[in-house]
Amino acid sequence: FGSSRFSTATEPSSRHGQPPRVPNLIGGAFIDSKSSSCIDVINPATQEVVSQVPLTTNEEFKAAVHAAKKAFPSWRNTPVTTRQRIMFKLQQLIRRDMDKLAMNITTEQGKTLKDAQGDVFRGLEVVEHSCGMGTLQMGEYVSNVSSGIDTYSVREPLGVCAGICPFNFPAMIPLWMFPVAVTCGNTFILKPSEKDPGASIMLAELAIEAGLPDGVLNIVHGTNDVVNAICDDDNIRAVSFVGSNTAGMHIYSRASAKGKRVQSNMGAKNHAIVLADASFDATLNALVAAGFGAAGQRCMALSTVVFVGESKSWEDKLVERAQSLKVDCGTKPDADLGPVISKQAKERICNLIQSGISDGARLLLDGRNIVVPGYEHGNFIGPTILADVKPDMECYKEEIFGPVLLCMQANSFEEALDIVNRNKYGNGASIFTTSGAAARKFQTEIEAGQVGINVPIPVPLPFFSFTGSKASFAGDLNFYGKAGVNFYTQIKTVTQQWKDLPSGTGVSLAMPTSQ
Ligand code: NAD
Repeated sequence: FGSSRFSTATEPSSRHGQPPRVPNLIGGAFIDSKSSSCIDVINPATQEVVSQVPLTTNEEFKAAVHAAKKAFPSWRNTPVTTRQRIMFKLQQLIRRDMDKLAMNITTEQGKTLKDAQGDVFRGLEVVEHSCGMGTLQMGEYVSNVSSGIDTYSVREPLGVCAGICPFNFPAMIPLWMFPVAVTCGNTFILKPSEKDPGASIMLAELAIEAGLPDGVLNIVHGTNDVVNAICDDDNIRAVSFVGSNTAGMHIYSRASAKGKRVQSNMGAKNHAIVLADASFDATLNALVAAGFGAAGQRCMALSTVVFVGESKSWEDKLVERAQSLKVDCGTKPDADLGPVISKQAKERICNLIQSGISDGARLLLDGRNIVVPGYEHGNFIGPTILADVKPDMECYKEEIFGPVLLCMQANSFEEALDIVNRNKYGNGASIFTTSGAAARKFQTEIEAGQVGINVPIPVPLPFFSFTGSKASFAGDLNFYGKAGVNFYTQIKTVTQQWKDLPSGTGVSLAMPTSQ
């Protein structure tokens, strides 16, 4: 958060020469944590320590929850039009600071500047959508359900909600959460990824500048302990999580055991089925873009291609196109992909590539030994392609989350569908074909929550919801769209009677029935 005004405002003078500490946000104040334990936020291209993120103390966490609880009664009673206007202002401020936000994301996360702008933009769209909350939150009304009696339903905010974020979209994912939650009238505790917390702080600054009252949005940093505190705290009513399956299933069970609502978006293994009648150029371009964009660190990355029949011969051209991508520091204007998030992530990805080779896959393109001039210590991996991959290989069963594309083959469309449907994940799947009948069959039979037809799986726009399924999602109500509003609101049904009742009608103890 180098360009943030809080980077200097909160930095005690004793820390001169040291990386700035990322502040918590509690009750409207950006406060340096008292914790002596912190984690370095490292630029993945240079290994420079950008900032330090504290492991928030339990006392500070409780103070954040207290602030959110205190802010709730007046915020829930603030007219929805006022809450919307803050979102209108927020979207304007995000546009104003788009470049600063993108630079922060590239510095902390590594993706290219253009991709970082997209990260911010896809979150911005959720803010824009929240500007229509008055309509989105509308209830229903049926008049005269019985003589002189009407029934209506209203959607009310829940209270204090919390969100726990992954590293790969430092702006978009916080923006999937708090704008919808607070515009519905809730107050919020955000726990950014400890790997790239800067964008969350910058977005919170903008939300405050837009007029969000103190305590409506709070931020606490840390890892497992603060996440467990969120799951356990009785004052928190709902938890939104995006990240890995290990963390997501833990959070889902721990928070729901405490009676909270949970929406948990998790890992993926997104497949593309390529039929021989597909448009050659457009398909290869889509596979390369979705396989290697953001160095494969997107939950919607296409990580596996199933070539059906004759389309197998396209592998060579796929390799040619992947080879031509430029791997560089994300700030370089011509970079196609930047580094992966950490040394550990690089090692894990390289081990999975090696396991694929040991298990009999053919290495068509090897990005493991790439050296980027000027950034020799960066966590770079070049585009890597493994062919002849089989479903029982470790590299197929695990989510790799790096610039690695696996190629499989099927003799028939049926066989390809079967391969994809047997995978435990269900985030997304795409088909490339010029046959309408094949596309329709795919859409009907594929067991994935988000389907692409001649497009690599796009993140749905905010008037729809992000609808991962199977092992990629736990919970009932998805992120944003109608489901997102339902997640952050409790439905209340009211039955009212307004009529002149004749006296002396007596008492009936029978079950009331509609007359
Ligand atoms: P991660 O699970 O390691 O971390 C996510 C968050 O959970 C972080 O804030 C972290 O501090 C916390 N956390 C991690 N381990 C924990 C534990 N044991 N107990 C409590 N809290 C814990 O995920 P990541 O590496 O930051 O993100 C990558 C993952 O996120 C990938 O699996 C990717 O597919 C997934 N993802 C999914 C979606 C989606 O919408 N389905 C979107 C983006 C990313």
